[in-house]
Formats: sequence, C-alpha cells, structure tokens
Amino acid sequence: MSVSAHVYDILIIGAGPVGLACGIEAARKNLDYLIIEKGCLTNSIFHFPAEMQFFSTPELLEIGGVPFVILREKPSRQDCLNYYRRVAEAFNLRVRLFETVEQVRPDDGGFEVKTSKATCTARNVVLATGFYDHPNLLGIAGEHLAKVSHYYTAAHPFFKRKVAIIGGKNSAVEAALDLYRHGAEVTIIHRGADFGKSVKYWILPDIQNRVKDGAIKTRFNTRVTRITEEAIYVTNGSATEERLDNDFIFAMTGYHADYEFLRSAGIEIDSEYQKARYNPETFETNVPSLYIAGVAGAGKGANMLFIEHGREHAKKIVSHIANKNTRSF
Ligand code: FAD
Ligand code: NAP
Repeated sequence: MSVSAHVYDILIIGAGPVGLACGIEAARKNLDYLIIEKGCLTNSIFHFPAEMQFFSTPELLEIGGVPFVILREKPSRQDCLNYYRRVAEAFNLRVRLFETVEQVRPDDGGFEVKTSKATCTARNVVLATGFYDHPNLLGIAGEHLAKVSHYYTAAHPFFKRKVAIIGGKNSAVEAALDLYRHGAEVTIIHRGADFGKSVKYWILPDIQNRVKDGAIKTRFNTRVTRITEEAIYVTNGSATEERLDNDFIFAMTGYHADYEFLRSAGIEIDSEYQKARYNPETFETNVPSLYIAGVAGAGKGANMLFIEHGREHAKKIVSHIANKNTRSF
C-alpha cells in the first residue's frame, strides 16, 4: 500500500460513461484529475447482456462531443465498448483500472481516498459509481443459489431449460424474448398486473404477442416466496403456495446505488426516494467538495436517468470545481 503526497484537483471514482465525461471536462479545464475504476473501462456496460442493443440512439451516448457513428439506428453493446475505448484513448484519459476505491474520507479540507492498491489525496472527489453492482434483492430463501442470477448475459446455455424471469420491465422482457428465441421454456413472474409502462413501445407488441400465443408464460400479480434447486414457489395473494418446476432464474429486479459506500463517505440518503442529498445545480453533496454524478445519485428514479443526463452532470460538476479554483487564486 502506498500513500502519495500528490494532491489531485479531482479524483473521479468510476470509469463508466459519466466518470469518463468528468475526466474529459477536467482535462479541458486543465485540472489535475485521476479516474479510478474497480474493473475494466466501462465495466458495467461490459457486463450487460452480450448481444443487447442500446435503447438510446448513438448521439445520446456521446461524451466529450466526440461523434458516435454507426450504420444502424441503435448501437450494440460492442459498438459502445469500442466507442468509449476510442474516446478514452483520444483524450489520453488518466484512468487506473482494476483498482477498487474502498473508502473516501474528508481530511484537512480535502479527501483521503483509500483504494485496494494505494491511498490518494484530492481536493474534490466525484462519485460516478453507477448502480449496476447492486441488484434489488428479493430477500427470500434460495435467492443465493447458483441457479439464480440478477444479471442476464446470454441465452445459449438455457436451451431446453425451464427458466423463470422475475420482474416486468425492460430487462425482464428483453431477457424473456431472447431466451424464448433460443429454445428456453420461459415463465415471467411479476408482482404487477401487467408489464411496466416503461417497457419500450417497439418491444411491447413482441412480448404481448408471445404471451398471447402461449410461447412465453406469465404469472402477473404474483410474488415468489422461496426458491429451491428444483423449483420456484409463488403466491398470488391467496394463502396457498404454488410450486413450479424450475431450472434457472433471472431476477431482473433492477439495481440501486451502493448506499453503504455513499453513507460511509458522509453523504445523506433520503429515506423515501433513497436519493443522495446534493445540490441539483452543482451536484455537490451535503459533504463539501464531494460530488455525485450519473445514476449513482438517482435513488429510486435510477431507471429514468440516462447517459445523456450524466454527461451534463459532468459539465456542471467540473465547471463548479474550476470556478472554485479560480476564486481561490
Ligand atoms: P456505470 O456505467 O455503472 O459506471 C460506474 C462505474 O463505476 C463502473 O464501471 C463501476 O465498475 C465503477 N465503480 C463502482 N464502484 C466503484 C468503486 N468503489 N471503485 C472504483 N470503481 C467503482 N442508459 C442510456 O442512456 N441508454 C441506454 O440505452 C441504456 N441501456 C441500458 C441497458 C441496461 C441493460 C442497463 C442495466 C442500463 C442501461 N442504461 C442505459 C442505463 C445505464 O446503465 C446508465 O445510464 C449508464 O451506465 C450510467 O453510467 P454511469 O457512468 O453513471 O454508471
Ligand atoms: P427496473 O426498470 O428497475 O425494473 C425492475 C422490475 O423488477 C420492475 O418490474 C419491478 O416491479 C420489479 N421488482 C423490483 N424489485 C422487486 C422485488 N423485490 N420483488 C419483485 N419484483 C421486483 O429494472 P430494469 O428493467 O433492469 O431496467 C434498469 C435500467 O436499464 C432502465 O434504465 C432501463 O431502461 C435500462 N434497460 C435498457 C435496456 C436497453 O437499452 N436495451 C435493456 C434493459 C434495461 P414493479 O414494476 O412493480 O416496480
């Protein structure tokens, strides 16, 4: 473990699209910055479903004003990975990969940031840590069995298997359609009365027709009560539990920010919306000089916040920091 005497103007945690956008803005303002990322570059996107297509058109995913050009209307995951790698290279962004930030501690007007490899100091810290590492858990027996996952990646292994999907929004519907088209026997189990209103208008007719023709089974108004190696148990509110034969489960129940990490840095979290306390103009949290950007600060509304919003956070944050610096000279 090394302790550096160097004091960065900005230490950015997370090299997702929003953390990278913060780095670009910092470089443009000649601020001394560093991005620290626990995994690979754009780690969350790397772990998205392998064959997925983004909902956003490419211009909404652009950062640093670098054009993102593809031949089709919507980019694939691979298009995005290629694009963000090229942007990081073009700006020669200072990113340390595969280094986890474990603690952010206010210290002497700045911050001491402890990582898995070193301790750094910075005048300002930006948390751009996303939400993808923290799925919303069901809190039921069997959730931690190997056959249960909160991350859908690819369909092939589930050919001729009985797969249950929990949830009723975009991830659930996309996984269900992909699995069905690769020969899995799919049942969607959703606590709501129908698919969520946020399911994209070009996907909804597809899933509705697959349900209508019986290719994909649904259990609406139904909750999962427990999971075993061979089965999934559900209830629709009646006193009795129903047993469904089951091989694999994808619990597509959404994701949330790492509240424990945010709280440990001193950030207050609103109990109703689970949202970090910050100034919406500057994205500075209740801890002075500690900022939050992208989906990490969105609370329960995280599924309504996109990369096009996060890149605006980056501009506001870095402008605020640069103006503070100017004022202090
Ligand atoms: P992330 O991309 O999650 O980046 C956060 C980074 O922080 C990660 O790389 C993570 O590894 C790193 N990190 C976390 N904790 C630490 C730590 N302690 N130390 C170091 N590094 C850390 N949005 C759109 O705008 N358009 C879309 O089409 C779209 N499609 C999506 C599809 C799926 C399946 C999902 C789940 C989400 C989609 N989103 C989409 C939402 C999208 O995830 C976010 O808008 C985007 O990834 C947010 O970027 P971010 O930089 O805030 O967070
Ligand atoms: P989400 O929008 O948060 O939906 C989660 C679903 O799980 C909801 O139907 C919710 O039920 C249900 N759920 C949550 N907690 C539950 C619990 N404890 N028990 C039972 N059910 C529970 O998550 P998502 O579908 O993963 O979407 C996340 C983000 O990714 C969104 O921004 C979405 O637009 C994006 N996305 C993009 C793409 C793409 O670009 N191709 C694909 C997928 C997702 P309720 O409906 O009752 O709340």
